[in-house]
Amino acid sequence: MEIEEAREVRTTCPYCGVGCGVLAKVAADGQVSVRGDPDHPANFGRLCSKGSALAETIDLDGRLLHPEIHGRRAGWNEALDLVASTFSQTIAEHGPDAVAFYVSGQLLTEDYYVANKLMKGFVGSANIDTNSRLCMASSVAGHRRAFGSDTVPGTYEDLELADLIVLVGSNLAWCHPVLYQRIAAAREKRPEIKIVLVDPRRTMTADIADMHLAIAPDGDVALFTGLLAWLGQHNALNRAYITAHTTGFGQALFAASALDLAGVAAATGLSEDELGRFYSLFAATPKTVTVYSQGVNQSSSGTDKVNAIINCHLATGRIGRPGTGPFSVTGQPNAMGGREVGGMANMLAAHMEIENPEHRDRVQRFWNAPAVARKPGLKAVEMFQAVADGRIKALWIMATNPVDSMPDADAVEAAIKACPFVVVSDVLARTDTVRHAHVRLPAAAWGEKDGTVTNSERRISRQRVFLAVPGEARPDWRIIAEVGKRMGFGAAFAHETPAEVFAEHAALSGFENDGARDFDIGAYAGIDGEDYDALVPFQWPAPKPAEGAQAAGGSSSSRFFADGNFYTSDRKARFIAIRPTTEIRTSPDFPLILNTGRVRDHWHTMTRTGKSPRLSQHIAEPFVEIHPADAARQGIGDADIVRVSSLRGEVLVRALVTPRQRQGSLFAPMHWTDQFAATGRLDTLTAPLTDPVSGQPALKHVAARVETFAAK
Ligand code: SF4
Repeated sequence: MEIEEAREVRTTCPYCGVGCGVLAKVAADGQVSVRGDPDHPANFGRLCSKGSALAETIDLDGRLLHPEIHGRRAGWNEALDLVASTFSQTIAEHGPDAVAFYVSGQLLTEDYYVANKLMKGFVGSANIDTNSRLCMASSVAGHRRAFGSDTVPGTYEDLELADLIVLVGSNLAWCHPVLYQRIAAAREKRPEIKIVLVDPRRTMTADIADMHLAIAPDGDVALFTGLLAWLGQHNALNRAYITAHTTGFGQALFAASALDLAGVAAATGLSEDELGRFYSLFAATPKTVTVYSQGVNQSSSGTDKVNAIINCHLATGRIGRPGTGPFSVTGQPNAMGGREVGGMANMLAAHMEIENPEHRDRVQRFWNAPAVARKPGLKAVEMFQAVADGRIKALWIMATNPVDSMPDADAVEAAIKACPFVVVSDVLARTDTVRHAHVRLPAAAWGEKDGTVTNSERRISRQRVFLAVPGEARPDWRIIAEVGKRMGFGAAFAHETPAEVFAEHAALSGFENDGARDFDIGAYAGIDGEDYDALVPFQWPAPKPAEGAQAAGGSSSSRFFADGNFYTSDRKARFIAIRPTTEIRTSPDFPLILNTGRVRDHWHTMTRTGKSPRLSQHIAEPFVEIHPADAARQGIGDADIVRVSSLRGEVLVRALVTPRQRQGSLFAPMHWTDQFAATGRLDTLTAPLTDPVSGQPALKHVAARVETFAAK
């Protein structure tokens, strides 16, 4: 695409799952500036600090600009031939499950679609998983258990319409700042909106909360099963809704009643008075939205937490109506788009299921594919374990940095180093993962490629080109398609433009969709390049053509579950019977619980935000938050350098002694790597412990100890 200078291009922020619209302008001298898109329905012109600093992060310093093989510059043909032939040979010798793709919520939907198609339809394995497994897999699993589909019922507008917003394990003020701004603005207009924060830490989000419940780590299942039991005891159920639209209530209530209020208080670390006030407020407020993110998802009981929350909404009929609903907000910019294309090891495509023979048949016919995967593949943690034990012999990592971001990161790095063939496609030349690749493929970055992303409220928006592609970089979808062609699947990967990929993705979503699946953007199946260029943000379920699929604002005319029908065989939602449990992983050697997460102005492993001096001013170095009583016990003073260790490793960071931290717990940000601070990588401390249903790692509950630097 030719770049027009001094013209504003509508695009979408590449950071978090809020999915804000951005207007990017390239001046005649090449300077780029950004501002919030006033017409984008996610942000209406707002941007947070990260979004506002986007123009500071797009220089070419550190970019991978040419393909490399074993560290030497290579041509595209040589590199692509080597990738294709090695994957083909590995499959021929060891079978399709000997290869794997590890992809990313940073990919655009078109990239994700082509990668998933190649692996599931043409390689014939489901060994494609994503770093979104670390982000929202428990929500996906919880939705599927309750609704029969991975459907997020909520919209951002619901946050403004609710009378009570319960934020669970979600520091919106720092991690989804524009949503926080929308809530704050709504409360300015309607001061009667009540906000409850459920979080072990008194995060910045607590500043807006009427009630902060400093819950014990992983106490959420007990809190919400306790709420269900309390609603039953206090005649606060919507019996008519339960009878008409759900099944399994009796078993769920029985299981939830395993703890009395005193038991819930013990399991959550909250007082009976705090519980009573929260439960009464919930019972008395019909328009309630419960927002949750990583504090719920990143847990060994993550899926049960999600279903414990959903159970309470089903029991009160608070779903499918404005200002109500459970609402999972995603971390990554395109975690939702990855779910739509089935870019996870246990999903197929267009919200179809691998285990369902009819779905497999449908996808196989649509793709004219030789071998659609018949069983789920390896989820992220399992995938790197399979790399370590030699089952995976060829691995392609796209747009992510697992050496720094996966749990038990040292073991992941050792596995990648030992893997016979590793391909990494990335925008950067020297991340901790890229340096172990046998083949490095330069990918186009934000602003250099066209495509779509889907945000947390199911809104599909365009990312658009406004920068020239540097060096020999290419969009990911094109790189993957070229490999597919060289593996002998030319006809299936003959797309020439991202618009063609999107049109095929849309057509598959509508293909023989008889209403039994939620994801359907089939109205866009025939979209051409011109309409794709002009595509306005729209939510799915996509409006049918008669309703104005291309209408500005593109909002759906229907609300999920408004009619009380779900995507199960009998169209009823499922209560899930969950027994409250308390997990204790601490020991005398590791008596504290380490919680990992984000700070306001950095993103993931800082490969982009680390370039902005302005963003680094907010918090300049890694730290560990510790309660004053725990610090005093160890003789630790504020700003001391301390050693944080777990069974798996140790890091050196500065202590931040603060009563905002819960006693017995620690918090440390995940962003800093060896590249930015020579103190060790935080994810070398975390364990590969996962939720048994979703496979999501428990990154917020690591048994740890902290001691002064000198104390070893
Ligand atoms: Fe970008 Fe998220 Fe900030 Fe919006 S809230 S500008 S999507 S980082």
